[in-house]
Amino acid sequence: MKKDLICISCPIGCRLTVEGENPEKISVSGNRCPRGEIYGREEALAPSRMVTATVAIESEKLARLPVKTDRPIGREHIPSLLNQLYALELVPPVYCGDIILDDFAESGVRILATRTIEA
Ligand code: SF4
Repeated sequence: MKKDLICISCPIGCRLTVEGENPEKISVSGNRCPRGEIYGREEALAPSRMVTATVAIESEKLARLPVKTDRPIGREHIPSLLNQLYALELVPPVYCGDIILDDFAESGVRILATRTIEA
């Protein structure tokens, strides 16, 4: 397996080449720092992303509350997560940092509010 990627760990955006199938023998080249190697290996083995989205909230101030995951989740789980989030309707008050959804799909991932909406 050979994969060309752009590292998204910082704005430089190094062009990476990731080769190998065996987790022990994956090689990453083109990276300018160790973060690129970590990113390349993760992309090859189990790609994941932080997710940001919005959730409906019953408020005259704001129609949708911005939320985010507290850690990256597997890319294959993102559509299911978004479906759950888009089905929610919150009632204020909600405070920045509140847990909106806990332990998504038994993954331990929490969805946090990133803005406060008072009652
Ligand atoms: S490899 Fe390092 S320098 Fe290059 S984009 Fe990734 S984080 Fe930035």
